[in-house]
Amino acid sequence: MNSLSSELSDSEIRDRFRCRCGAQAKLVRKMMNPRNGMTVRIYECRCGQRSWTEDKE
Ligand SMILES: [Zn+2]
Repeated sequence: MNSLSSELSDSEIRDRFRCRCGAQAKLVRKMMNPRNGMTVRIYECRCGQRSWTEDKE
């Protein structure tokens, strides 16, 4: 038995983002960066902080 395994699926991880205030930020926008073909996800937290990630997909 592996007690260290995380059961979060990829999509669950991608649709959530932990803000630096500690709350879960919400995915508000998803788009493609035409320069590098990466998927950009923009997250907004209730504190107003915005963050984004880029993933190859
Ligand atoms: Zn926040």
